[in-house]
Amino acid sequence: MKEIGSSEEEIFSYLSSVREEDLTYDRILSSMCTRPHPVAIRAHMQFIETNLGDPGLFPGTMGLEDELIRMLGELFHHAGAGGYATSGGTESNIQALRIAKKQKSVDHPNVIIPASAHFSFDKACDMLGLEMRSVPLDANYRMDIDSVSNAVDARTAGIVSVVGTTEYGMIDPVREIGEIAGDNDIFFHVDAAFGGLVAPFLPKIAPWDFSIPSVSSISVDPHKMGMSTIPCGALLLRDPAAFGCLNVDTPYLTVKKECTLAGTRPGAPVAGAYAVLRYLGCEGLSAIVSGCMENTRRLIEGMEAFGYPRAVTPDVNVATFDCPITPSGWRVSRTRQGHMRTVQMPHVTRDVVESFLETIGESHA
Ligand code: PLP
Repeated sequence: MKEIGSSEEEIFSYLSSVREEDLTYDRILSSMCTRPHPVAIRAHMQFIETNLGDPGLFPGTMGLEDELIRMLGELFHHAGAGGYATSGGTESNIQALRIAKKQKSVDHPNVIIPASAHFSFDKACDMLGLEMRSVPLDANYRMDIDSVSNAVDARTAGIVSVVGTTEYGMIDPVREIGEIAGDNDIFFHVDAAFGGLVAPFLPKIAPWDFSIPSVSSISVDPHKMGMSTIPCGALLLRDPAAFGCLNVDTPYLTVKKECTLAGTRPGAPVAGAYAVLRYLGCEGLSAIVSGCMENTRRLIEGMEAFGYPRAVTPDVNVATFDCPITPSGWRVSRTRQGHMRTVQMPHVTRDVVESFLETIGESHA
């Protein structure tokens, strides 16, 4: 750090130049984040100094967090769900597995996760000393039900299913896997970090949320399809009391116990998420999801017309292709199997899709 501070002008001119090095979302098809909604940005700025790590100092913001959780709980068919706002899917998944582990007092516990699971589960299992039993997928990249049955044993502390897989956009057979979890009395976590704000607005969808009695917890990220400011995830539990096993004493704060992973927690993105979900309502979110799904279908149709077949028909707005080329100027990613992976986020409009297809057409020729 310099001895004498710099002028604002100098700093902001430097910041602008640095910011210009970043990509804009215009040509990014590889991200599960998007431009935040203007309403989210406005609310975020209004709550910029709030800290939910000491909620007694910010009772208003704490109330907003409760309202956010209540809205999400209602959307997931359980208004009485407990929860809190996390920094995103990774933290929510770690916390869910912490609870699963604490509820099962056995030596060498294991958790069963699909091979499609996000790498946050590798982190969680490493931190928690859990054996990660990764089970194979079926031909459509969904968690294979029989493999789950075969993997369960007396040391299984948790089963995880994914709603909206990161790589292929699939929804696992949550009801069937939930039956296995229910029959064996195993904590059942649904990672809907991406799909939690997509699935409720899809026209034909099998139950996947708290409407399935064995679902114990759900991760959902407003900072993905909720168009909220980063960082905003949420972990919801069917039984709010289950958070108690994570409590630690916090003697010098305004609350005497805390179950969260982070200490200092930003209230700003919580206000952002609350505001944008309230602003859009189910009708607005539904329109966004339907636009993203339409763009997904159009991209698949366009890619196939160039001879690049889909890897699978996705359940949510993630399209993957057997396509070795990477169109110049665009950001796409690759799945572990080598497929081209694209995500049709709200910034990936119909015009963006057409322009992407044009570049593909040029590379193809
Ligand atoms: N779970 C799923 C299904 C995801 O797709 C992601 C991120 O893409 C995560 C968890 C992790 O979320 P975050 O990056 O917000 O921690």
